[in-house]
Amino acid sequence: MWIDTHAHLDAPEFGPDHALALSARVLASDRGVGLCVIPAVMRQNLDTVRLLAHRLGDAYALGIHPLFVPNALDEDLDALDAALTAHAGDPRLVAVGEIGLDFFVPALCEPAMRERQERFYRAQLKLARKHRLPVILHVRRSADHLLKHLRELPTGGGIAHAFNGSPEQARAFTDLGFALGFGGASTFEPAKRLRALAAGLPLSALVLETDAPDIPPQWLYATAAERAAGRSQGLNTPAELPRIGELIAGLRGISAEALAAATTANAQRVLPRLAALLTV
Ligand code: ZN
Repeated sequence: MWIDTHAHLDAPEFGPDHALALSARVLASDRGVGLCVIPAVMRQNLDTVRLLAHRLGDAYALGIHPLFVPNALDEDLDALDAALTAHAGDPRLVAVGEIGLDFFVPALCEPAMRERQERFYRAQLKLARKHRLPVILHVRRSADHLLKHLRELPTGGGIAHAFNGSPEQARAFTDLGFALGFGGASTFEPAKRLRALAAGLPLSALVLETDAPDIPPQWLYATAAERAAGRSQGLNTPAELPRIGELIAGLRGISAEALAAATTANAQRVLPRLAALLTV
């Protein structure tokens, strides 16, 4: 059994009323995906991800994503706190996320916006501590900054999603109780450094994710030239997770079953509320 620890199944790419997410979720189940975690990205989708997780029998996280910080209002943090309080007893609420820092997108790197991102990140780490939940982190050119704030405001762990840092940064996250999310990016042969990490990190450090509908695996990816010639980009969904897992298992020289078992156990260790959802 596989767990997709990061799937934005409420994204507009999945069509009106999430129709494509529902069909993809059925296919994913048929292929052995037992559970998906649907992270929120802004105040406006806090209810959406919760309702969708209940409809699909999945899990969800509540938070404000760094790419949405420019449009977020300070009151949105109060709305997030209120939602975390209102749904504290919901077994499908498993983390605060997706939160973090993005120092890749140029507009987000302006000094004032960096400060605003850090303020939202710290405020949400405090909410995770208050509500005793792990966090799901967006890490892009920001691992050391994320770690610095985490050391000041430890949450007890969570997931560093779409991890693509150094082995030292990986070790720093795992020392703080985090697992590292690997997915479609490691299916590309030129991604040598990332593949070396996926192959070489301790098995206990890994969880799997599709980041659907983003980061399509190699077999769904159409280059700009292919798209111009009429080939469309395939829709990345949780149904791709087993194939991504098989590929990463191959990089590590272990069976897909062994990787599935280990990453499922790891996901339950870092997002402890998942365990109860798997036994029902
Ligand atoms: Zn995400």
